[in-house]
Amino acid sequence: RQEQYLKLRDVPAVTRDGVPITLQLNAGLLVDLPHLAETGAEGVGLFRTELQFMIAERMPTATEQQSLYSAVVAAVGDLPVTFRTLDIGGDKILPYMNAIEEENPALGWRAIRIGLDRPGLLRVQIRALLKAAGGHPLKIMFPMVATCDEFVRAKELVEREKAHLSRHGHPLPSDLKLGAMLEVPSLLFQLKEICAAADFLSIGSNDLMQFLFASDRENRRVADRFDPLSPPMLRALKMVVDEAASSDCQLTVCGEIGGRPLEAMALIGLGYRSFSMSPAAIGPVKAMLLALDAGRIAAFVREELERCGGGDTLRPKLLQFAESH
Ligand code: PEP
Ligand code: MG
Repeated sequence: RQEQYLKLRDVPAVTRDGVPITLQLNAGLLVDLPHLAETGAEGVGLFRTELQFMIAERMPTATEQQSLYSAVVAAVGDLPVTFRTLDIGGDKILPYMNAIEEENPALGWRAIRIGLDRPGLLRVQIRALLKAAGGHPLKIMFPMVATCDEFVRAKELVEREKAHLSRHGHPLPSDLKLGAMLEVPSLLFQLKEICAAADFLSIGSNDLMQFLFASDRENRRVADRFDPLSPPMLRALKMVVDEAASSDCQLTVCGEIGGRPLEAMALIGLGYRSFSMSPAAIGPVKAMLLALDAGRIAAFVREELERCGGGDTLRPKLLQFAESH
């Protein structure tokens, strides 16, 4: 199997009916980056910057942050990379930060909420990213955005750092794109606004599932209770892809859902064209899409979503489709 996938490395990711699909990697440390060459991925769609913070014994300095980001920019070469700003809190704990007792950490003070309340932390990171990518294209995205306003405030922070660096004669990124992760359901009801404000959106399906169904992703009793291939999630994902297309906002899926072949097939049926996933998922997803007719799966998903009664998962139907095509 592994060898079979290795052979697919240089095969372009295009469906049988000629629809190109972008497959990128999720990464978090330098050691993840050799997977780019191994898998033939077209870039890093999610670089989880909190990993550096989580394995350190104290807060990484600005210089340490910048040197990691520079190394990442150098390692990807001409391929694109999307850095996600610190996503701490919830299930991601920093041992050296004063642990705050929270009843519901997943719903608590985390990710961009910390970044906006402690702009010192976020500003240092943004400055490090901008400096590391001087002269190169750069994409930055913010985690756990719940309101469009939060994104706009984060964007202003980036603008301020850019102005500061250029005043001091630092070269800026040649092209800077700012995006929001879509993982909090409230953003589903601000799609027009967020698509207008952001250059791109990236679906964090792990958290989106957790919050959409109110089921803790860390709690085994409920983590797999609800199926992403059931109408509530599929309809939510359809709203996003439709709005992103009509407002010309780039869209990627970086949650684990995109790295499972059956789920990725359904997403292509909904209109998704870009995925970022763990290295091991690239081969199986590519093998699936090379055999897929995007037009047919689109018609199938549309019909099944119209026909279904509401709660029932489409998984058996999609499995049938996969087996018979
Ligand atoms: C997600 O929530 O789907 C995601 C990609 O981010 P993380 O798993 O790091 O929370
Ligand atoms: Mg997340």
